[in-house]
Amino acid sequence: MENNLNLYNTLTKKVERFVPGEDGKVKMYTCGPTVYHYAHIGNLRSYIMEDVLEKFLRFSGYDVKRVMNITDVGHLSSDADTGEDKMLKGAKREHKTVMEIAKFYTDAFMKDCAKLNIRTPDVVEPATNCISDFIHMIEVLMEKGYAYQAGGNVYFDTSKLEEYYVLSNQNAEELAVGVRESVEEDTNKRSKTDFVLWFTKSKFEDQELKWESPWGVGYPGWHIECSAISMKHLGGTLDLHCGGIDNVFPHHTNEIAQSESYLGHKWCNYWFHVLHLNDSTGKMSKSKGDFLTVSLLEEKGYEPLVYRMFCLQSHYRKPLVFTYEALDNVAVAYGKLVARIAALGQGKVTQTGKDAVEKDGGAGLEEGALLAANPAVDQEKLTEFRAQFLEAMNGDLNTSSGLTVLYDMLKSEADDVTKRAAVAMFDEVLSLGLLAAAERMKEEKSGAGMDAELLSFIEAKIAERKEAKKAKDFARADAIREELAAKGIAIKDTREGTVWEKM
Ligand code: AMP
Ligand code: ZN
Repeated sequence: MENNLNLYNTLTKKVERFVPGEDGKVKMYTCGPTVYHYAHIGNLRSYIMEDVLEKFLRFSGYDVKRVMNITDVGHLSSDADTGEDKMLKGAKREHKTVMEIAKFYTDAFMKDCAKLNIRTPDVVEPATNCISDFIHMIEVLMEKGYAYQAGGNVYFDTSKLEEYYVLSNQNAEELAVGVRESVEEDTNKRSKTDFVLWFTKSKFEDQELKWESPWGVGYPGWHIECSAISMKHLGGTLDLHCGGIDNVFPHHTNEIAQSESYLGHKWCNYWFHVLHLNDSTGKMSKSKGDFLTVSLLEEKGYEPLVYRMFCLQSHYRKPLVFTYEALDNVAVAYGKLVARIAALGQGKVTQTGKDAVEKDGGAGLEEGALLAANPAVDQEKLTEFRAQFLEAMNGDLNTSSGLTVLYDMLKSEADDVTKRAAVAMFDEVLSLGLLAAAERMKEEKSGAGMDAELLSFIEAKIAERKEAKKAKDFARADAIREELAAKGIAIKDTREGTVWEKM
């Protein structure tokens, strides 16, 4: 185990050493998306940084079990349990059923995650699969006196807790001032901070999905789903709970309240929150202005992994402002990085390594392990690079320092085979698809897959230009350069002769 990870914990408001509970296994829970619309790139910032955290824990030697819910019921327009159900809103907008909407946007979310190299959590559980688990938990909360029925709904009674705001700095007064414009007073609540566990009476009578319960036909509140789904798959203690910063209150505050009341003990040790991505107007939105999605970025010609790199360049605990200018800069940096990796020699040595590993019964190893097992790799150097990367990332998941280690490694005196192995090693965590992008770049430059007619045209023109230059006909040589440029081919004279590449 190489774990010296220091992580900011929202619960203690301190950076502290991350120590999981049992035998090095990390139980990790992530609040999943509400699948009523596409995820915006702000949502995806949270999932990218959580993915880095998960992969870094694995990289450090932990066995991680990660669970994520899919919110397909219960999340109302306001996080404070008022307004229409977001799923129903989505269904109305698109004239589809709630389940059709849920399926469509769950698939869309998974596709976006795949494009961003976000690993699918070990368990992905839609809330609508777990209604009986929610009902059971609410029953126990009722029995223990932590919940009450009023006006047809079941509420959690926050007055029963010694401390409710364990995660946030909020206090009852601040809340009373009214933090959200859309919050309507729910007169059924005994205290302002009480929240709904089960709805049977909503102003919106046309709620599509409803289930039988001891309190009448209805549907669960949003907060209960994360507590119950986490416990269903990870048991009664949790090492790490993640989400965007907006989840701290009320969602995670309520999760802690109900989970610990149900369990009778502390539930989760570390709370990891990602600060928001904002656009230049302020908050990222699905309804106003440019609805920034991965597909929109692709339409505008950006490779999705450039957005991942954009996120990795800044710390997860700092707000990040999205602009196309900033993304353009990252696109250039990503291209240069890939070009640098593409220029690393690999020769036949990789094949030797591959053969050695396969002979050892190591076929099917991850690319990083395969490259590292290459006998030509300087293992001492590789270990040194690994230690530098661990040290950088151990400082509260400092991904921009992790990237700096990558750049420094490429600049170092190490040999190319060792550098390639180090790229693969770092990319187990960074997941920027660097070696694959480098291979693609090399193929494109060598003209693989290019039209044979164009290839022989390029060769003929380069030969013709060589003759023109020999004859000191520089005007003709320049004209040939222009002719090739018109076909998207750039040429460069080097000591080894004229080389070309696609522009
Ligand atoms: P939702 O689909 O609204 O339940 O949100 C999915 C995840 O995205 C949650 O973890 C939110 O906290 C997070 N999130 C929402 N808005 C942003 C944002 N602008 N930047 C980063 N994360 C966000
Ligand atoms: Zn949640």
